[in-house]
Amino acid sequence: MTRIALLSQRLANQIAAGEVVERPASVVKELLENCLDAGADRVEIDIEQGGSKLIRIRDNGAGIVKDDLGLALSRHATSKIANLDDLENIASLGFRGEALASICSVSRLELISRARAATDETAWRVEAEGQEMSTAVSPAAHPQGTTVEVRDLFFNTPARKKFLRTEKTEFDRLEEVVKRLALSRFDVAFSLRHNQRVIQHLHAALSVQEQQRRVALVCGPAFVENSIQIDIEASGLRLWGWVSLPTFSRSQADLQYFYVNGRIIRDKLVSHAVKQAYQDVLFHGRHPAFVLYLELQPALVDVNVHPTKHEVRFRDGRLVHDFLFRALHKALASVRPQDRLGAEAINGESVNGESVNGEGVVSAPGYASVERSAELTGDFAGQERISFAGTFGSSPTPLQSNQFSSFSAGYSGPVSQQRVAEQVAAYARLQNDDDVPPLGFAIAQLHGIYILAQNAQGLIIVDMHAAHERITYEHMKSACQSEGIKAQPLLVPLSIAVSQAEADCAEQQAEALLALGVGIERAAAESIVVRQIPVILAGANIEQLVRDVLSDVLEHGSSERIRNYQDELLATMACHGSVRANRQLSIAEMNALLRDMERTERSGQCNHGRPTWVLQSLDQLDKLFLRGQ
Ligand code: ADP
Ligand code: MG
Repeated sequence: MTRIALLSQRLANQIAAGEVVERPASVVKELLENCLDAGADRVEIDIEQGGSKLIRIRDNGAGIVKDDLGLALSRHATSKIANLDDLENIASLGFRGEALASICSVSRLELISRARAATDETAWRVEAEGQEMSTAVSPAAHPQGTTVEVRDLFFNTPARKKFLRTEKTEFDRLEEVVKRLALSRFDVAFSLRHNQRVIQHLHAALSVQEQQRRVALVCGPAFVENSIQIDIEASGLRLWGWVSLPTFSRSQADLQYFYVNGRIIRDKLVSHAVKQAYQDVLFHGRHPAFVLYLELQPALVDVNVHPTKHEVRFRDGRLVHDFLFRALHKALASVRPQDRLGAEAINGESVNGESVNGEGVVSAPGYASVERSAELTGDFAGQERISFAGTFGSSPTPLQSNQFSSFSAGYSGPVSQQRVAEQVAAYARLQNDDDVPPLGFAIAQLHGIYILAQNAQGLIIVDMHAAHERITYEHMKSACQSEGIKAQPLLVPLSIAVSQAEADCAEQQAEALLALGVGIERAAAESIVVRQIPVILAGANIEQLVRDVLSDVLEHGSSERIRNYQDELLATMACHGSVRANRQLSIAEMNALLRDMERTERSGQCNHGRPTWVLQSLDQLDKLFLRGQ
């Protein structure tokens, strides 16, 4: 057991300084971190009046020996670091040796502890009231571990007390702190009581199922039901946890937990990488939800940046950013309809109104745990291990950019007799076999907008324009990345009257546009000629397409930037190349679209992040008709 010692003046000066006790929540954060640092696996938190009257935290950790009790309350006294080397390799949550000193200077504090290493069977107590500390250590009754009791916070600093909000607001913040720490350590049991009422009661969660249950209790069951579980390792970095499906986005960034080596942080670099990974699939202005853990060598991250330790500095920010982006991007791309269906099927059966009440009855969706692997590209290829566990089965089928979908944009040619025969045969199988594709077989089209299909679970409804738009977009993106977009010359070049600015732009950006498959020449001051377009957009309204692309390009400016906005241009083009509402589709065409959706990355959302399909299970339909009730 390491004893507490005063930091040298030099070392104390190297520690990010600042006040950490702002409100009850910050007291709870500091005290809980001490419990975890002491190796406790059970922590009980008792709060009265939002924490301003009482905060009592008891743990079963290593405790503090009698002779160190007074020191624990002194400034710059810590058992966690002793020299500069330690400061650069911090494995504990605390290290500043200031928390207890700060807290006791603005409250009435009592510290009782019985050390694991103690030779006698007694616990010891010290007390402090504001600036006055009684040096007397008195015997007390206490099992192994430590209790810190903080009463009347800010009793001697009325100015700070004035800044406290209502009891409820302060308690909400405090509870959020407990949640964050509860998500950081699944192996520790937490209980939280407010005015004698049990608010959270979390058992130690060791298995994946139990951890999932804790996440559901803390973040709400809907989050777990609508998220994928990831575990990715590359270049000495590991990222694991839960990320929401893009269709489960939020209006605020309030369900985002990111941990670096067990410490929760808010970091610009991390937010940026996450945002980029979701960029293509999230509805504008919405925020993803996630609980993610990044693990790396302590020496590769500096936690001594800010007194509250909410910020960190990565030694190699670029590497971390790229790793996060790639890992999440890949995970999101790999979501297929069959995955979501798996989740819904399971949840439909087993979620029964999660709640934490009284002693906290816990129930969470039972998740089948299946591992599958996928590959990252680029720097990380070959070294990483990816597994998406939880709700998912089946391995992803990589999209082949040259093997273009059976469902071509314009439906230019008739569907072959053979295809129809295949579909009919497949449909026949549906009757007696459970060999049904995830999105099932089409049965009808509704108002020229929706496709209705029957699958093993019930009714699938597909927004056909949204779905096709995504498929076209993904095809164009992957074609663009591999051999380039295949273009086809127009039999009759199309002249379009445009503004002078648009014509200038078309002329200047001719090369960049050609790379996207659009061949344009300037014909006159206010006129351009379109000579070729991407094959996949054959059926599109070319004039409208070109006008929209030009207006995008005008908005984004230089060709350098066009490259950055390439995906946006492709999305604009994809929208034009996609099947419009009010188009009559044959059953075979509808089935071809369903199969394409199953194959295509990110096909669960359209290019704007809206869902492309929903499931109405037989159970749900039965409920509608009050069957079996
Ligand atoms: P720091 O955590 O930065 O070291 P603190 O002021 O929070 O500083 O705590 C001072 C010291 O008191 C710690 O280094 C630790 O040795 C001891 N301590 C505080 N709380 C506990 C606890 N719950 N269990 C065991 N030791 C504790
Ligand atoms: Mg501490």
